[in-house]
Amino acid sequence: MSKRATRTAPADPQLFRAHVVSSAPVTPSMQRVTITGDGLADFDWMGYDHWFRLFMRRPHQDEFAMPEIAAATWWKEYLEIPEDTRPHCSNYTVADYRHEQREIDIDFVIHRGPGGELEGAAAIWACGARPGDQLALLDQGILFDRPDDATEVVIVADESGLPAVAGILKSLPSDTVGHVIQEVPTAHDTRELSKPVGVTLSWVIRDDAHAVAGSKALDAMRRRDTVDPRGYGFVVGESALATGGRRHLHSLGLPKSRITFSGFWKR
Ligand SMILES: Cc1cc2nc3c(=O)[nH]c(=O)nc-3n(C[C@H](O)[C@H](O)[C@H](O)COP(=O)(O)OP(=O)(O)OC[C@H]3O[C@@H](n4cnc5c(N)ncnc54)[C@H](O)[C@@H]3O)c2cc1C
Repeated sequence: MSKRATRTAPADPQLFRAHVVSSAPVTPSMQRVTITGDGLADFDWMGYDHWFRLFMRRPHQDEFAMPEIAAATWWKEYLEIPEDTRPHCSNYTVADYRHEQREIDIDFVIHRGPGGELEGAAAIWACGARPGDQLALLDQGILFDRPDDATEVVIVADESGLPAVAGILKSLPSDTVGHVIQEVPTAHDTRELSKPVGVTLSWVIRDDAHAVAGSKALDAMRRRDTVDPRGYGFVVGESALATGGRRHLHSLGLPKSRITFSGFWKR
């Protein structure tokens, strides 16, 4: 795919209903859940870092009960669902979309607490997901917003941003130049990513269970002391990486209007 990002939000966001096809590890820190549903035939996949709000059953709930909600007022309506039946909601990226099969892949970072126990309602749901489990998603469009005149891209992410980075690299025009700093927990979490030849990809291996995700990517970023002010920056992941990364790029002369940054989660 080599289309440009021309639309950043769906014209008419809608709630899609789907169910689980399979759940399997991609790498030690990433679990892939494949979902399908007849309605997904109408999912207008934009490539890049296309993301959505994912609604799923909480562990103590007997069934998944998600009422219809209007996209414009979804948050208010979501909070009005009685707490004991309200599904869990988290943000995720389309790792892949297959129109023919009406399937979406979602890659969940598997993170653990101090005792090694699985942590995070979405990650726990993903690891326990069984074929037929129901869910819903609300389309949100893409964040990546490279100006047409950008001379280069500078992309930095921790593992929560890896599905976004993989999608962006696959979607960028083939003549794009730039570099990517992608942090992952271990060397076994790296994988082959298709990308334009002019974009270099540097994996940063954290290899430290106590280090904050994103801190090593931020260090690697700070070791680079030049940026083309006509370029474009995209920094996502743990909140300190997103804000620190943006600050660094701006301090090197990249205008704030040419930087997209997003705290995907907060430690
Ligand atoms: C636009 C967007 C797209 C995203 N796409 C993806 C995606 O494709 N894949 C993905 O895995 N994440 C993605 N995220 C991040 C994801 O939404 C958060 O990690 C979210 O907190 C996960 O929800 P949860 O219910 O599991 O954890 P929560 O209930 O929100 O958090 C529980 C605990 O886990 C910690 N935690 C949450 N996420 C992580 C993490 N990644 N590593 C370590 N500790 C963590 C929290 O600090 C908290 O202590 C995306 C976020 C955004 C905004």
